[in-house]
Amino acid sequence: MKINYLVFFLTLGLFYSCDPGELKTPAEWNDFKEPSTYEEIIRFCADITQRSQLLEQEIFGHSAEGRDLLVVNAGKRESQKDDRLRVLLFAQQHGNEQAGKEASLFLLKEIAKGYLDHLFNDMELWIVPQLNPDGSELNQRRNITGQDLNRDHLVLEAPETVSLHRLFRKIMPHVSIDVHEYQPYRQSWKEFGAYKDFDVQVGVNTNINIDSNIRWFSLERALPAIEEHLESLGYSFHNYIVGPPPDEGITRYSTTHIDDGRQSFGILNTMSFIFEGKNGRDGFVDMLEHRTQSQAEALKALLDFLANERHEAIEIVTSAREHLVSDRSGEKVAIRTQYAPDGSLLPLHLKSATTGEDTLVMAENYRPLVIPETETDMPLGYLIPRKDQNLMRWVNIHGLYRLNNMPAGTSVYGWYLRPMHYSNGGKPLKRQVDLSDIHEQFIYLPVRQLHSNFLVLALEPMSDIGLVQESSFEYLLKEKEWYPIYRIEY
Ligand SMILES: [Zn+2]
Repeated sequence: MKINYLVFFLTLGLFYSCDPGELKTPAEWNDFKEPSTYEEIIRFCADITQRSQLLEQEIFGHSAEGRDLLVVNAGKRESQKDDRLRVLLFAQQHGNEQAGKEASLFLLKEIAKGYLDHLFNDMELWIVPQLNPDGSELNQRRNITGQDLNRDHLVLEAPETVSLHRLFRKIMPHVSIDVHEYQPYRQSWKEFGAYKDFDVQVGVNTNINIDSNIRWFSLERALPAIEEHLESLGYSFHNYIVGPPPDEGITRYSTTHIDDGRQSFGILNTMSFIFEGKNGRDGFVDMLEHRTQSQAEALKALLDFLANERHEAIEIVTSAREHLVSDRSGEKVAIRTQYAPDGSLLPLHLKSATTGEDTLVMAENYRPLVIPETETDMPLGYLIPRKDQNLMRWVNIHGLYRLNNMPAGTSVYGWYLRPMHYSNGGKPLKRQVDLSDIHEQFIYLPVRQLHSNFLVLALEPMSDIGLVQESSFEYLLKEKEWYPIYRIEY
């Protein structure tokens, strides 16, 4: 009996490693009854990189529990050119969103089989199939230390997100794609009587400080290409919308916050997308094959579009990034924004929770626009106190460009938060200060860097998405004290 098993596994092993026609993802081998495990992914990636000249793998970090974080690079080795479009795709920041990972593995399989060779003449792709392997093994959203990775991209505390940002800076992709799944079967929607039934939703950058050409190209060119491809295959698509059921609150296009994977890279003028496939009823294996196929087709549609339109995409991102490092004096940055209506209603094609039939609901409180509420003039830069270890770690971990001295002939401004009883609404007062009165050492962060808008949004104390809004940095803004970061202007 033992020998029979041995012969069986040896035969299976030979078959698996020699016949390219039989290459399958781990979940395909078990007919999508279980998602691919971490160990299976490690073996699968080792196998495909052996098979294909296009593929190479690299460990770019480790999870909190010490699992390898793998990235597979797809591109033509013999033609390492600088003018190729670079795309970084990362999946499963949330461990209970299994199909993003499966779709990434499916893409890798198709690349290994040579089905997608046409993409790689002028494009290079990096795929991280699983950013949160610890959470995935438990099918839980957060990582093993309880952090929501997709809210950690501003503060960067989790090893998984820190590693991803280091990888990003090494690659400097023009395009980033963050793959998730949404859960349509929540109690509130059940009570509403209908739920969203889009196989795939895709969101683009919504922070209005991100270059307008990038936002236009993603929204008006890339999204229609994805929609057309999906609909030709019978899958449904929507621009990524969030919000409670339409009778309970606002329907809008996701968040403008730079603490998530899409917008934190977007604010560096990266053309970035978030993919949200429809999760199963059990949030695990229900409909896993359908979920995998629809996400994989959506991803292929975007990659096809980008490969065809690479010249325009590269041109848009390159000039938008050149703008970030140019002299931006006189420009404004929107540090507080609001979601606003445009006068239209959103027709939402939902599925009835009772009959399963298609139902059309008009979302009346629809706020598709993002408008500035408070703007600030672009400063020259900011001073960060060296003694604040927390801030210095943050500067280092984001790889921010820094100088030891600020430019001559400039003015220093600080913020003082008066006691609330002065009825200033908790708004810090900006005052010019004399640095010689402040007996401290600082480093200087000029805004002429890739992290230009990022710095203003993170460091202005009035920013509604700034560091002071994060629990690990809320100590920076205290009543009757000076904000420890100073602003430099001409
Ligand atoms: Zn997610």
